[in-house]
Formats: sequence, structure tokens, C-alpha cells
Amino acid sequence: MNETKTLALTAVDSSADELNQLSDRIWESPETCYTETTATKLQIEFLREHSFTVEENLGDIPTAFSGSFGSGSPVIGILGEFDALSGLSQEAGVMELRPIETGGNGHGCGHQLLGTASIGAALAVKKYLETTGASGTVIYYGCPAEEGGAGKGFMARDGVFDGLDCAVTWHPGDLNRTSTTSSLANIVARYKFHGCSAHAAGAPHLGRSALDAVTLMNVGAQFLREHVIQEARIHYAVTDTGGVSPNVVQADAEVLYMMRAPQIDQVREIYARVHDIARGAALMTGTEMEEIFVKATSNIVPNRAIEEVLQKNLEAVPLPEFDEVEMAFAKGFYDTVAVKGGSLKKALKHLKPEQAMELEKHIGEPYYGTFILPMSDNEEASPGSSDVGDVSWVTPTAQINTATWAAETPGHSWQIVAQGKSSIAHKAQLFAAKVMAGTVIDLLNEPETIEKAKKELDYRRGHKPFESPIPKGVRPSTLK
Ligand SMILES: [Zn+2]
Ligand SMILES: [Zn+2]
Repeated sequence: MNETKTLALTAVDSSADELNQLSDRIWESPETCYTETTATKLQIEFLREHSFTVEENLGDIPTAFSGSFGSGSPVIGILGEFDALSGLSQEAGVMELRPIETGGNGHGCGHQLLGTASIGAALAVKKYLETTGASGTVIYYGCPAEEGGAGKGFMARDGVFDGLDCAVTWHPGDLNRTSTTSSLANIVARYKFHGCSAHAAGAPHLGRSALDAVTLMNVGAQFLREHVIQEARIHYAVTDTGGVSPNVVQADAEVLYMMRAPQIDQVREIYARVHDIARGAALMTGTEMEEIFVKATSNIVPNRAIEEVLQKNLEAVPLPEFDEVEMAFAKGFYDTVAVKGGSLKKALKHLKPEQAMELEKHIGEPYYGTFILPMSDNEEASPGSSDVGDVSWVTPTAQINTATWAAETPGHSWQIVAQGKSSIAHKAQLFAAKVMAGTVIDLLNEPETIEKAKKELDYRRGHKPFESPIPKGVRPSTLK
């Protein structure tokens, strides 16, 4: 690593306390899906104090904002998230389920670290730009509602990321690695049926049941499941049964559908068929169907050119050191997980045998943050969705994970919340910040890599421009 770059990365260390406090304060006020006002305020304050130019209300979303520094090209984005999950309230550092507030929110996906580390990365890039006077702009994007709100999807649809040459991001996890996998695309829509109420015994012939329509729609969707591609998922929830009185014909009822598949075009096709099923259910029951499009998320388009730069930096930035107390802390949480998912074991399957054999010894250790995984070429869609997907269709985008919590900690769990303010979480977020900053600095100096990344994106998109899966006019909803 050259001297200027090393010096720039020290910006993360000199702001370490401030950054750790920022993530702790976001952890302390967990806010979900477009209600992240405290997290937004804290981050904007931080960005302004550090002389970033702040833009608020991006895409007309009150909790979407950016902080930029520098001028000219390339323009490189660093994505951050900060939303929490409902029902995951949990005390910090405690190795058993103990909510601070029963039913309250909690940071069960580590997003208090996600936004903060990305700001830390932007700080180091700013230092680099100041020191060298190089041309280039770094933009931190505060992206709300990743969990269930598709914040970045709405921002991408409204052109927020259009001026970027490329983007990097990260996600907390239990391994240090470059993420090479895709994710499932999805579309979420609500189907409301409107019928007509009547006495269910006295005058049933006058009633038209919306609940019957919901039931028939669910039966139709059940038969559809056999005739879609293997990897597709069709989830549903009855969100309004129409009432609790069986002696009334239910006039209004609603069902919510979430359709997923590896490619957004595959989801579009399934969605059209589900829509026809809803129309059929309305026809069969003499009710009216009203469809409300909630949100959609594109699959992640991996970008090898940017991933390679991330991996190089992941291997070059010194790993944080952990003492015995920290290892015992990790072991405590590792032991709370009764059924372990085998994250390292799964990751090893995608490596070359000689690489996997070298790392196999770590299986069973309570913390995986003491080593870096080599880059794999696995691009399969992981079984969840992420709104990073939409950004990755607009501009070449890649991401890393760092080990912010104990080995095998399950996603969206109280254990993640409990470990969110630990020194391990703090060290791993600063490490992530440095790796992302190092990557952005390299990209500022390698216009040819950015060109290569853009060509790769064009190829992977089938030489077509990005078309947002969210129709114009659909506004973000606070759906959890
Ligand atoms: Zn999550
Ligand atoms: Zn997450």
C-alpha cells in the first residue's frame, strides 16, 4: 500500500471513537422502515461536522440523504443503511433473550454499523482527496428502509444513483469476505377484494364474499406453484379477513403476495400470472379486485471488476486484533446458538480444495474474524433479497462482509442485537470502513478498472438499460 493511501486510512482510526459512538447511538434508537429520523439526524450532523455537502430528502423520501466531497470524476458512491427490525428489542452484551422493551425494535441486522462504517470510508476518501488534490467525488448515500421497504429501489427508480461511476458497500456478518453472490428479485403487491355484505343465513344470495375471493386466489396461487421455475417463491399473508363474524358475508378482504425469483424478469412473469389469478377470483365471486403495488427489488448484479479491488484491499488492510476477553465474549454468544447454520462450511464449498483445506481448521471456532476468505466465483442467488440489487443495475456495485459478530450467529436474531455495541462490532466496522476506503482510493486511480466494470455491467444487463421494477407513481410504504 502506498504512503498516501495508508495515511488516508488513518482517518478512520483518528475518528474511531466518534464513529463507534455514532453506531452506538443509532443502535440505541432503533427505527424501522422510513421512520429513521434520529439515525438520519445523527448522520447528517456527523457529515456536516466533517465538511461534507449534505443533500436531504432524496427521491422525496425524508430519511434518504447524501453527503458528498470532492469535485469532478470519477464519482464513486458508498452505500449505507441504518434501519432496524421490529420485535427484536434486546439489551446489549447480555447472553440471553432480554428485551429492553417487549415488542420493541432492535438492530437485528447490524445496520447501525452499516451506515456508520460507510461514513467512515467516506471520511478516509475525503482525506485522500484533500491530501492529493486528486480529481474525484465521493458520495455517502444514507439509504432507509432496506428491511421491507426497498428504499434503494425507490431511490434508483427516481434517478438518485444515475451520476455514479460505480458504488461499493458492505454488510455485517460472521465472515470477512468479498460477496460475489446475487440475490433474489421480488415484487410485493396487495390484492383487495370488494364485495357486498349480507346476513349469511337470512340473505346469503344477496352477499358477495371478499373473503371467498381471497380464499380462491390462494387456491389458484397454490396450483401455480407447480408451474413456475424451481427457484421461485410465492409467499402470502392474509392481511384482512373481512371481520370476525361468521354470520356476516365479508364485504372487504385483502391478501398480500410476495413473489421472488433469481431474475427480476422471472418475477415480472410470475407477478402477471398472480394478477390473472386475482382477476379470476374476483370473477368467480362477483367481487371487484383492486391491486396495490407495494414495492419491488431487482436481483443483485455481481461485478467481478470491483469485487477484485475489494478483495485486494481486504487482504491488504491489517486485520483487527482481538484479545481473550473478546474471544470469550464471542464464545458466549456462539454457545447460545443451538442449531448452527454452518456459514463457514458453506463458504468453503465454493472455494478450491486447497484453499478450503487450509481454512477447514476454523470450523468450530467461536469467531471467524481472524482470517479472510479467498474470493470465490459463486454467483448463485442467496435465498434473500436486498435493495442493493437496484443500485447494482444502475452502476457497477460490489460489497464485502466483515465479521462483526460471533461465528454462526443467525440473521435477524436477538444475538445480533446483543452484540451490536461490542468491541468486536466496533473493530469490524472500522475494518470494513478501511477496506471500502482503500477500494475507492484505488478506483480513483484506476479509470481503466471503472471502464471494465461498466462494460461488465452492460454485458450482465444484456446490453439493456435499467428499467425499475417499481412503476412510476408508486410511493414508498411503511410496510414492515
Ligand atoms: Zn436484514
Ligand atoms: Zn441487513
